[in-house]
Amino acid sequence: MIPGTIHCRQTPAWQAEQAAAIRDPAELLQVLALDPALLPAAQAATARWPLRVPRGFVARMRRGDVNDPLLRQVLPLVEETVDTPGFVADPVGDRAARRAPGLLQKYQGRALLLASRACGIHCRYCFRREFPHTETPSGEWQAALDYLAANPDIHEVILSGGDPLTLSNRRLVTLVGALAAIPHLRRLRIHTRQPTVLPARVDEGLLELLTHARFQAVVVLHVNHPQELDATTVAALHRLRRTGATLLNQAVLLAGVNDTVSILAALSEKLFSVGVIPYYLHLLDPVCGSAHFRVETAPAQALMHALRDHLPGYLVPRLVREDVGQPAKTLLL
Ligand SMILES: *Cc1c(COP(=O)(O)O)cnc(C)c1O
Ligand code: SF4
Repeated sequence: MIPGTIHCRQTPAWQAEQAAAIRDPAELLQVLALDPALLPAAQAATARWPLRVPRGFVARMRRGDVNDPLLRQVLPLVEETVDTPGFVADPVGDRAARRAPGLLQKYQGRALLLASRACGIHCRYCFRREFPHTETPSGEWQAALDYLAANPDIHEVILSGGDPLTLSNRRLVTLVGALAAIPHLRRLRIHTRQPTVLPARVDEGLLELLTHARFQAVVVLHVNHPQELDATTVAALHRLRRTGATLLNQAVLLAGVNDTVSILAALSEKLFSVGVIPYYLHLLDPVCGSAHFRVETAPAQALMHALRDHLPGYLVPRLVREDVGQPAKTLLL
C-alpha cells in the first residue's frame, strides 16, 4: 500500500457532500419537522425541476418553519405548477445569444462559458430551470475555446452553467489552462453558488488554481439572505479572499425571502464583513413556475431608495433586470 496514492484517488470530501444532497422532498420535510401535507405538491413540482439541496445548507434552516428564507429558495411548492402569463421558458434570450456550443455572448468584451450542467443546489426561482441543458456540451469546450480565440475583442471570460464549481479541480485546471493560452483574455470571472451552499468546495486545489492563474480573478457569489452565511461559510470566504480574487455578490430579489430593507441591509453588512462587495440585486427573471417569488419594479425601487438611507453607497447593490436584446443589464436604480 502506498498511502499517497490512495490519498490521491479518494473522492474529495466536497464531492461526497455534493452527492449526498437531499433530493427526496419527503426527506427534506422530515429532517425539518414540517407538515407531511406539503408532500404531494412538492412531489408534483419536482417532476419539472428536481429537488436538490446540500445537507449543510439545510442545517442553516429553522426547523418547523415553512417560511424559513433558506427553505423557500429550495422547497417545491404547488404554486410552481400554475402557469402565469408572461412567465416563459427562456426569459433572458439565452438561445439567441448562443455563439458556439456552450458559449453565450450578449455584451461587449465579455462572454459566458457554460462550463457545467450541474448545480450543487436547485433554486426554485432559477431562470435556468427550463434551460435545455442537453444542448450544453458536457466537458466538450473546444468549440467555445475556438470562438473565444477567434474574437480578440473579448477580454473577460465568465464561467457559469449550471455552476462551474461542480467541476473537479482536475477539469477546472484543464479548462483554465486552455483559457490562459488565449492571449487577449485578461479576466477570469466565476459565477458560483458553491462556496456558500457547499463551503467544503473551497479546497486547496481551488485556492491554488485561483492564486496562480495568470488572470485577474473575480468570483461572483450568489447569497440572498444573511442567514446563509454561517461560520463554515465565512471561513470559506476568508480562504477565497486570500487568493487575491475580487469577491462580489449577486442576489435575486425574492418575495418572502429578502424583500425587506432590514434583510437587504443586514445582507450587505454581513457580506462586507467577510470582504464581499454587493454587486447586483436582480429582479426575478420571469421563468415558468416562479411567479410567486416576483417583486414588481416599483416596490423594488422603493426598497432600494430606503436601502440607500441605511447604507454607505458602496454597500448598495445595483438593482437590475435582464431585458432580452439589450447591450447590458437594465439599471433600475
Ligand atoms: C449577465 C450576463 C453577463 C454579465 O454581465 P455583467 O454586467 O458584466 O455582470 C455576461 N454575459 C451574459 C450572457 C450574461 O447573461
Ligand atoms: S444556476 Fe445558480 S441560481 Fe440557478 S439553480 Fe444553479 S445555483 Fe441556483
